[in-house]
Amino acid sequence: MAKISRKVKTIRVDADKCNGCRLCEVVCSAFHAEPKYSSNNPARSRIQVISHRLRNIWLPVFAGEYTPAECMGRDKYVIDGKEYDECGFCRASCPSRSIFKEPDSGLPLKCDMCESDPPLSEPMCVQWCLNDVLVYEEREEEVEEEIKVGDVEIGLDALVNKYGLQKVMDTVARIAKRDN
Ligand code: SF4
Ligand code: SF4
Repeated sequence: MAKISRKVKTIRVDADKCNGCRLCEVVCSAFHAEPKYSSNNPARSRIQVISHRLRNIWLPVFAGEYTPAECMGRDKYVIDGKEYDECGFCRASCPSRSIFKEPDSGLPLKCDMCESDPPLSEPMCVQWCLNDVLVYEEREEEVEEEIKVGDVEIGLDALVNKYGLQKVMDTVARIAKRDN
């Protein structure tokens, strides 16, 4: 397979600096509202701050890929005496929990690094984290060419897994008929 050069985007998280203000959740959900900035709802944010005040845990986690199935087992970390939740560091939109899903439809949410036209100098959550917890970095990397799976396909996959192919096809056909 051919090698191509691609831009790798990283957000470095210095969790020790996070105070749990959740401004990142507010700006992310506002930026991704349709139309942009028309509403905000942290439940729709692609970053979630896992907070446990009594355990002194403030952990920003970014929404990763959708997965149709749970892992066979869960992990639970204790680091420097702090006990984190089960799957506490996991980024997946997973059937085992409610985060990283649209609250109304259950469709998967995924951080897209605020790819936008025109592009932002830095993602919204990075720009608005006033405690410098989030630091944006870019680099070029050689990778094998891959087939890109778009958000629409991932969303359809999730619906098919939940309701079955026939039901999704019937619904799409009904909507198409209604909207013509
Ligand atoms: S905006 Fe920064 S300090 Fe506030 S919760 Fe998010 S990561 Fe933490
Ligand atoms: S990079 Fe953009 S999409 Fe990802 S969590 Fe931050 S604001 Fe949301």
